[in-house]
Amino acid sequence: MEEKSLNILFVEDSIDDVELTLAELKRFGYKVSFQRVETEQRMQESLVNRTWDVVICDYKMPEFSAEQALHVYYQNQIDIPFIIVSGVVEAEDVVYLLKQGAHDFLNKASLARLVPAIEREMRESTVRSERRHAEEKVSILSLAVEQSPVSVVISNPNGIIEYVNPKFEETTGYSNVEAVGNSLGFTILHDASSDSLHHLWETVKRGEEWSGELCSLHKSGQLFWEYINVSPLKDDNNNVTHYIAIQEDVTARRSYEEQLRRQAHYDDLTGLANRVLMIDRMELAIETSLRNHQSAALLCIDLDQFKNVNDTLGHSVGDNLLKEAVARLAICSRKSDTLARMGGDEFVVILPNIENNLVVKEVADRIIKEFSKPFVIDGADHFVTASIGIAQCPENGQDHQVLLRNADLAMYKAKELGRNQYQFFTDEINAKLKQRLFIERALRDIEYRDELELLYQPIIEPVSKNIVACEALLRWRQKDNSYIMPDKFISIAESSGLIKNVGEWIVKTACKDIKAIHENVDASMKVAINISPKQLQVAGFSDFVAQQLTQHQIKPHLMELEITESVLMNDMEETNNNLQALCKMGLHLSIDDFGTGYSSLAYLQKYPFNTLKIDRSFISQIEDNKNNAKLTETMIKMAHSLDMQVIAEGVENKAQLDYLSVHKCDLIQGFLFSKPLTKEELLVEIKRRNNKMLRLAK
Ligand code: C2E
Ligand code: MG
Ligand code: MG
Repeated sequence: MEEKSLNILFVEDSIDDVELTLAELKRFGYKVSFQRVETEQRMQESLVNRTWDVVICDYKMPEFSAEQALHVYYQNQIDIPFIIVSGVVEAEDVVYLLKQGAHDFLNKASLARLVPAIEREMRESTVRSERRHAEEKVSILSLAVEQSPVSVVISNPNGIIEYVNPKFEETTGYSNVEAVGNSLGFTILHDASSDSLHHLWETVKRGEEWSGELCSLHKSGQLFWEYINVSPLKDDNNNVTHYIAIQEDVTARRSYEEQLRRQAHYDDLTGLANRVLMIDRMELAIETSLRNHQSAALLCIDLDQFKNVNDTLGHSVGDNLLKEAVARLAICSRKSDTLARMGGDEFVVILPNIENNLVVKEVADRIIKEFSKPFVIDGADHFVTASIGIAQCPENGQDHQVLLRNADLAMYKAKELGRNQYQFFTDEINAKLKQRLFIERALRDIEYRDELELLYQPIIEPVSKNIVACEALLRWRQKDNSYIMPDKFISIAESSGLIKNVGEWIVKTACKDIKAIHENVDASMKVAINISPKQLQVAGFSDFVAQQLTQHQIKPHLMELEITESVLMNDMEETNNNLQALCKMGLHLSIDDFGTGYSSLAYLQKYPFNTLKIDRSFISQIEDNKNNAKLTETMIKMAHSLDMQVIAEGVENKAQLDYLSVHKCDLIQGFLFSKPLTKEELLVEIKRRNNKMLRLAK
């Protein structure tokens, strides 16, 4: 016989009775492990400390009873068979105890029913516990549905709603009673979602799941967006018994997404399209114009002097001005045009589908006119004009990058020509751009290619006709021995940051060359070097010059640095540091191209200038233009009164020389005496001219 084990808790005062029961169980093949208790406290301890299969309890004990034991049993919330085994008991008492929850009653004198009773009760207890678990599960599931943070709708296989949870009631405004009996999806806005709804039913009827976002209507009429998932529930035979829809309100997320989309495409301040959207629109305009054999135009607009308004009146005034500027641009463009803000004070207008150039001109003219009116800020008039560059598709480019760059270049041309105007992109601008790119690329490694040269133009004392100084002028020799002149590449070197290297090369070479002149022909020969404003903005420039002078043993006063008026007007801290240090070392300073800038006498007093160079434009007109002659005379007098020496630049003929001599111009530079020479030519020329006793160094 198969041995079965059983854990029994005996609530019994008689050991004999326990033995009796054990013998009966053994007869049926049970291996019993047991404990016997006869007080409430011991019973309680046993129930807590061990798991039992059965409780067998005596009816009456000296200190305990079956009734009390049942009480302890139920307090412990256990569900195992509780069987009373006792001597004779009144029938009413048995019934009473069974009502109290005992599972069976046996007379100890006839235990034949004991094993079947235990086995039956154990089976029933298992069934009870399984049912309890199932009920608990259902109750948790239904609680989950009831308290779900998303709407849950259950319908029959025909799509008729049988249940909606409280969240559904809250989101749609329809109560459970109102919803039940309606079709699944009755809150969905059918017009807007008919395709999706059709697809939904097709899918779920096939027995598959569907999910998507649909627009729903709240009972109050308010629209909202829901993420909806519908799945069919099937029975064991795979028949659909219900549909269950889970719906989540995603309006907040969608509006956030919409906001993000707006932010990604529109400018916050002005509400205009931003660069991203502008590029999109431009590509569309290009595509359409190419397809329709029409033209499209791109206007790049930059506000002139806007920075002044921002800097002097503050950013909030600047912001208001920009908004007003947008309003003006809007008046000037057509409905089909796109107006975009590229950032700062830069705007773009895209004109798609243009039949002829006149339309573009009209728009540009209108903008210029609108911006010629003052902006009234705090009761005061401010003039902020517009500079416009125009590029057209397909003539000036067929992709947005090229068109934007070309319109931008045309805009810079408009600025260059005095602002407050528009310029179309032209071949000339294009050629300039190409040249600029070529120069910039070539400049990058020019030092290593040995293509830079310094020429020296003699500076003459008009009475003795001796050469007293020379000006170093930079040349860039090409492979075919032609020169690129400095005005073609200095500004490019400046804007690309390459001027530092080029500038240092100039100082180094000039030091080396003048040293050779000092050693070979004239120890007092002065050399003038042109210094770009950008070089002076580099920290340590003065140290570099000092180091070169020391290395080549050149006296600082024999080197003159030519700077232009712009350096004085846009004085920066580093420029000031460099110039102060250079003056302190004893280098001479001269002001170049004087008269072409706007600097006043006050500027000239900022640094101890030794020399003033009158610009060639004055000298060349001395004979024909009385004003220029007079101005030249005044400049000479003024410089002398400030203890400065005067050099006239670009002297080309005798008449000019005579006028300058009469008015006591100290030194002359120009083709009349000499063009810029190589170092070797200069050596020969100094020897030839300064034919007196040469002040040879030695
Ligand atoms: P700048 O400093 O005013 O130099 C004088 C310019 O006038 C030189 O032109 C010279 O060749 C030219 N010139 C001299 N005499 C006459 C004349 O009688 N008639 C005419 N028509 N022209 C005359 P260049 O060498 O083309 O230099 C142009 C400008 O480029 C210079 O003007 C200077 O601002 C700049 N530059 C030249 N070399 C350098 C340099 O090494 N560094 C920097 N930063 N700028 C330089
Ligand atoms: Mg110069
Ligand atoms: Mg000059």
